[in-house]
Amino acid sequence: MCQVCPHRCKLSEGQTGRCRARKNVGGNSVSINYGKLTSIALDPIEKKPLARFYPGGMILSVGSFGCNMDCPFCQNDSISMAAENEVPTKYVAPELLADYAVRLRDDGNIGVAYTYNEPLTGFEYVRDTAKMVRALGMKNVVVTNGCFCAETLAEVLPWTDAFNIDLKGFTDEFYKKLGGDLETVEAFIKTAVQSSHVEVTTLIVPGENDSPSEMRELSGWLASVDKKIPLHVTRFFPRRKMADKQPTDIKLLYELADMASRNLDFVFVGNV
Ligand code: SF4
Repeated sequence: MCQVCPHRCKLSEGQTGRCRARKNVGGNSVSINYGKLTSIALDPIEKKPLARFYPGGMILSVGSFGCNMDCPFCQNDSISMAAENEVPTKYVAPELLADYAVRLRDDGNIGVAYTYNEPLTGFEYVRDTAKMVRALGMKNVVVTNGCFCAETLAEVLPWTDAFNIDLKGFTDEFYKKLGGDLETVEAFIKTAVQSSHVEVTTLIVPGENDSPSEMRELSGWLASVDKKIPLHVTRFFPRRKMADKQPTDIKLLYELADMASRNLDFVFVGNV
């Protein structure tokens, strides 16, 4: 049984898990996306999104394939929903990536962001690379859905300088629909914030998680953890299985952000 996330897939020898990124090899849950990059770009830190962590900086951002959730509105589904061999990859060893990050310093690079797909399905690569990046005096950023067991978080937390964690909504029903678990994400945020900079993102999907009462509860809970956690309230665009929906109404987006501002010190509107 893979213990990395709450799905706890029971895998027979050679079988791949629900995330398509881990496999039972010799009785162990092994990351099959280790170092296999599908995307690499030098992005503004604000694009992660992080608003209060080295603003104005750039960050070398990498992704692989696979995800342990199944959001019908995923904005990165070409890689997150892909399995091994379904998308071109290039192997980049941790030391090579860390070295590349250093060489980009003159371009404003502050470190490495593990992002685009769900990086913690392959937490070993994040951990191994982050150790080297830290040793070279640079920063590590993890962009995650936060739906991972405490032991997985513990593997990367000591080397992570900042997280952006999705809080996709605030009901068990919505999380079930997405193949995730709200309680696990709450625990992840509570632990991460104790030793790392944390910002949270909520994508507002029309008719799904856009009620004022849900935003009141979500922001109230986040404030109970720490009212200084920045919240990014972001605009949905039609994608994947929700290609027939309209983008989030901008007026509503600002109203929900206003509501969250009553509980939290820092609220940002994104994707507008
Ligand atoms: S990380 Fe992947 S293989 Fe492991 S339990 Fe989660 S979905 Fe299953």
